[in-house]
Amino acid sequence: MAAPIILLGAGQASASCAAKLRALGYDGKLTIVGEEPAAPYQRPPLSKKYVSGELAVERLFIRPLSWYGEQQIDLRLESHAVALDPAAHLLTLADGSKLPYSKLLLATGSTPRSLPSEIGGRLGNVFTIRNLADADAIAPALKPGAKLLVIGGGYIGLEAAAVAAQKGLTVTVIEMAERILQRVAAAPTSDFFRALHQSHGVTIRESTGLAELLGADNRLTGARLKDGTIIPADLAIVGIGIIPNDALARDAGLAVEGGILVDGQCRTSDPDIFAAGDCAVFAWRGARTRLESVQNAIDQGEHAAACLLGAAPDYDPKPWFWSDQYDVKLQIAGLNRGYDSTVLRPGKRPLSQSIWYFQGDKLIAIDAMNDALAYALGKKALEAGRSPDRAALADPASDLKTVLA
Ligand SMILES: Cc1cc2nc3c(=O)[nH]c(=O)nc-3n(C[C@H](O)[C@H](O)[C@H](O)COP(=O)(O)OP(=O)(O)OC[C@H]3O[C@@H](n4cnc5c(N)ncnc54)[C@H](O)[C@@H]3O)c2cc1C
Repeated sequence: MAAPIILLGAGQASASCAAKLRALGYDGKLTIVGEEPAAPYQRPPLSKKYVSGELAVERLFIRPLSWYGEQQIDLRLESHAVALDPAAHLLTLADGSKLPYSKLLLATGSTPRSLPSEIGGRLGNVFTIRNLADADAIAPALKPGAKLLVIGGGYIGLEAAAVAAQKGLTVTVIEMAERILQRVAAAPTSDFFRALHQSHGVTIRESTGLAELLGADNRLTGARLKDGTIIPADLAIVGIGIIPNDALARDAGLAVEGGILVDGQCRTSDPDIFAAGDCAVFAWRGARTRLESVQNAIDQGEHAAACLLGAAPDYDPKPWFWSDQYDVKLQIAGLNRGYDSTVLRPGKRPLSQSIWYFQGDKLIAIDAMNDALAYALGKKALEAGRSPDRAALADPASDLKTVLA
């Protein structure tokens, strides 16, 4: 009897791949192997409405547990894969069991970067946010009056800062770069979110390096910054980026370069092993690309399903992303990589605006804050390859539909 298709990593990409495999008519054996105790769930709420206590855990799950049985999917949780033998088509788990596969999808996600223990990275009350256990550990520490230090002004750190500020904590964000969101957004977007946080009492310190976290009895008490300043803190959330989980692939001899290298068919350097989601790197628009988003995990997971069953056109992502902070919804369409100019379009209500990214005259991405119409129309224009006139775009009195026609 043929060995199953195994999807390694019980996360967003595997859940999408599994559903698509069944939708495409694959009725053979299908196994999902994941190290976490929970069935696949959505991570975005972990730094938003879940950690704030507004969303129940049941709402996180991508499918009800019963779905896996109905779909005849063997869901193996708390199963950590430790080795992969591509020649023998075998995956080895931590308990020593060896699982044969016909084809394998690596959807192992990523791990947050942490601070080295020499500078206090392992002190109690120093957190990262990647999984349910992390959010469950942070939630009780978000007590009014407590002092939170957020290290890293990226989306996850800023979302956590927003939740904490709304709960009455004293929040300081330190960012090593010149501005928050520098890696992912243009200056006007950073300016918008800096002002938003400041208006909620958050202290934002940019161009500020951390020297060390300070602690007593293995508990965090504060931080010493590179300029010598001491900031007292009861807890710290470290949001300084992620590392793709590619060690298993590398140890198995697969091509790995800042993630597991795949072609347009999600295929690694081994013909029977595929990869998708946060852990996969692929060539797109002339550059190595690794997308850390729900959009990519869903679309690439589904794409991998088609590829596991045979050929499909090359993966051509249509990136979108979002972030929720206070009462602002940021929606992003496209990828701003390589932009050389931006246009700011004021929105029609307070805290509403959009930033349009151009490469030459070509529109490549948009950040829309509290402006769903700009996001929707911008996304459509991007997908159709249309680029608006900048002057008309910048004029808040212009009709966006006409500008983007
Ligand atoms: C706090 C937070 C907020 C986010 N907010 C947003 C947002 O607002 N918008 C957005 O688009 N994206 C957001 N993201 C990113 C998005 O959640 C990820 O891009 C997406 O989950 C990636 O899916 P994946 O399937 O590749 O990996 P994951 O969903 O991380 O799943 C990978 C799974 O594989 C398991 N695994 C790894 N190695 C092994 C092994 N050896 N054996 C067994 N299991 C293994 C992991 O434990 C994990 O459960 C957020 C992420 C986080 C953490």
